[in-house]
Amino acid sequence: MITDEIKKKIRAIVGPENVLDSDLERFSYSYDSSFLPLLPANKPEIVVRPLTTEEVAKIMAVAYEYEIPVTPRGAASGRTGGSVPLQGGISLSLDRMTRIVELDEKNMMVTAEAGVRTIDLYNHCAARGLFYPPDPASWKFSTIGGNVAENAGGMRAVKYGVTSDYVMGLDVVLADGTVLQTGGKAIKNVTGYDLKSLFTGSEGTLGIITKALLRLIPMPKRRGTLQVMFGSLDDGCATIHQMLQAGIVPAAAEIMDRFCLDTAARHSRIDLNPAAASCLIIEIDGEDDGALATQAKQIEAVAKKCGSIAFRAAGSEEESEELWAIRRGLSSAVAALAPNRLGEDISVPRDAFPEVVRRIRAISEKYGLTIAVYGHAGDGNLHPSVLCDLGNPEEAKRVHQAVDEIFAAALAVGGTLSGEHGIGITKRLYIAQALGEAGMRTLKAVKQALDPKGILNPGKIW
Ligand SMILES: Cc1cc2nc3c(=O)[nH]c(=O)nc-3n(C[C@H](O)[C@H](O)[C@H](O)COP(=O)(O)OP(=O)(O)OC[C@H]3O[C@@H](n4cnc5c(N)ncnc54)[C@H](O)[C@@H]3O)c2cc1C
Repeated sequence: MITDEIKKKIRAIVGPENVLDSDLERFSYSYDSSFLPLLPANKPEIVVRPLTTEEVAKIMAVAYEYEIPVTPRGAASGRTGGSVPLQGGISLSLDRMTRIVELDEKNMMVTAEAGVRTIDLYNHCAARGLFYPPDPASWKFSTIGGNVAENAGGMRAVKYGVTSDYVMGLDVVLADGTVLQTGGKAIKNVTGYDLKSLFTGSEGTLGIITKALLRLIPMPKRRGTLQVMFGSLDDGCATIHQMLQAGIVPAAAEIMDRFCLDTAARHSRIDLNPAAASCLIIEIDGEDDGALATQAKQIEAVAKKCGSIAFRAAGSEEESEELWAIRRGLSSAVAALAPNRLGEDISVPRDAFPEVVRRIRAISEKYGLTIAVYGHAGDGNLHPSVLCDLGNPEEAKRVHQAVDEIFAAALAVGGTLSGEHGIGITKRLYIAQALGEAGMRTLKAVKQALDPKGILNPGKIW
């Protein structure tokens, strides 16, 4: 319970205008972009919007003293309920911490506060010819703090990796208000445990990330887009494997099944090859047009060997946009098909991609549910979307059984519950199955050591 006396202390830290406590304001901080129902019980008691690491440290010291739950929040674009306050307390919104503190061109590193939007960081670096590759589809609104806390990935992960591949250092406010600075600009650094990696992907349960030092790479000079159609999903997957085995690494490789293709085509009014059962959209990049042409030729040859039925290389920016439009519009096109959509985020070894899709199709038939399948074929991360009406209790029951079986299918083929969206609330029931007893014990020991009073994002992950 946050008393008037505690509110007074917090107002003195951040200024009264940065403590929100009206019913409507608290409601606005009670949900995120997951598919969870809106519940009045998830309203925070207050919303606090600090401007500096020092203010965050002071707020945490108060929260620690009075044992107040604190739920960190970036842009609330999370898909698993991570920023939803389950136990009232403080919703700690980092949205005012939007400074890009330093762009160190010599060391090719950037330091940004937690509330900087991913796209703003990208553009800031791109203007100097430097490239920050992690590109979650939410990058126009997600924050760097949220990206680090979820270890966000994106379409370019197949070539460039995910957020953790770029985190060099972090400023983290611990549960009791202590400020920890970990990592730094030294490329090789094995002094002690790798704490920056521990906090990356910790979903706000171990500390509040206030600043990140991120590695950059030179911006590729040219980019190109290819679209390849196949008569089966397996042929599309085989093309990815053979490309990678041959050392041809595309910047992105997205796959869609026939259902998704039809849906996207209807949505965007595009005519599709009726024989296509799957489609790969590939981004290539390189130093010049010659390098792109060589890669495109190599990919076309591999795809042909794997049974492709159509190949197209975009000849201009506009054409490239047109090819990507199918993939970009897919999420909304699929969501428009039913009152509810449960979008999952399983990740499997690349060679298990066709097998897990077959298993998902069997689950879809067993429960009489439409499940659209698309994803980042280049790195084995799939987003099966269960289309349903959760207002119908009988259907809701079938949906939950189907989702249980999708997770079981991912684990059965050697995969995992989440490739990029994290565990949050929505997957916590399954985590023990994925990590096993020793894994869970280790995770809980870390949590206990860093958050002995259990005030940081309680109710998440398990
Ligand atoms: C349309 C759409 C597309 C998406 N596409 C992708 C995608 O391609 N790849 C991908 O990885 N994700 C994707 N996401 C999910 C989401 O955008 C990412 O997880 C993103 O990293 C969340 O950032 P955020 O700032 O919105 O964080 P929030 O949603 O506010 O928070 C996410 C979690 O991080 C914690 N947190 C936030 N900030 C901090 C901080 N400073 N310190 C400590 N903990 C913190 C929160 O408590 C919560 O647990 C998508 C979401 C949407 C809505």
